[in-house]
Amino acid sequence: MRVRPLLTLLALLFPALAEAQQARKVYISVDMEGISGINGDNQTGPSGNEFGRARKLMAEDANAAIRGAFAGGATHVLINDSHGFQRNLLPEDLDPRARLISHSFKRHGMMEGLDSTFDAVIFVGYHAKAGSPRGLFAHTGSGVLADLQVNGKSVGEGGMNAILAAWYGVPVVAVTGDDVAVEQQKEITPGVRTVAVKRAINSRAVELRPLADARREIELAAREGVRGARRFGPERLPSYTVRMTFTNLTFPEVATAFREVRSISPSTVEFTRDNMPDAYRMIRVLYRFINTD
Ligand SMILES: [Zn+2]
Repeated sequence: MRVRPLLTLLALLFPALAEAQQARKVYISVDMEGISGINGDNQTGPSGNEFGRARKLMAEDANAAIRGAFAGGATHVLINDSHGFQRNLLPEDLDPRARLISHSFKRHGMMEGLDSTFDAVIFVGYHAKAGSPRGLFAHTGSGVLADLQVNGKSVGEGGMNAILAAWYGVPVVAVTGDDVAVEQQKEITPGVRTVAVKRAINSRAVELRPLADARREIELAAREGVRGARRFGPERLPSYTVRMTFTNLTFPEVATAFREVRSISPSTVEFTRDNMPDAYRMIRVLYRFINTD
């Protein structure tokens, strides 16, 4: 029996197998600072008086990416709310075809739920890394980091998340955010499709594109990115050495309570793990779950 009829017969006998063959899973991590129309810090947290507006803007960019993903052949779309307390997106505002992961108590933060069953990753609403001279609300993680390096390379959130996606063999096919954020993403993932939804004038002032234009371009980038997505062999290095420089001296002091965390200078610590998911979890613990009050 030739292979094709055999597969057809198996698919008839086992519908789940047929579905698995055709499934095309897309993972979308949605941050907030790089969303179309976002231009002020009274929008990016629940105490801000424009937060209600901002979370709707966030949902509209996410929906543009979801529409594009399905148009590009996705059968499943998982959205991960990746900003702040990570309960910004309201399920009632989202395209009903997508599933949503909420709440920041996640070991894998902005990449919670990603694994090697996915075919493509999209970053929506991303911002520039800490220390960027330009870039709207440029920061990395919770804002206590001055710099983050993985194996000697300085990365922001998009860089760190892309290294984790590569560990699972899943390509990052599109990124949206301000012009600085998307340029920084290209340095880490050269083939990525980029949508600059605004131009950062400095770390606070910004030139916004018309919302409809930006969303149309997000949809297109998601569609073409998903359509052309090709999984690759997992990129797994023998070790991941992480160096974290903090903006204060209390976090690094507490961090060295973990035996493998080495002090490099009063503001900088370093540790090594043998796989990226493990390193990623540790990065998150060190910038987010240390309380120095
Ligand atoms: Zn962020």
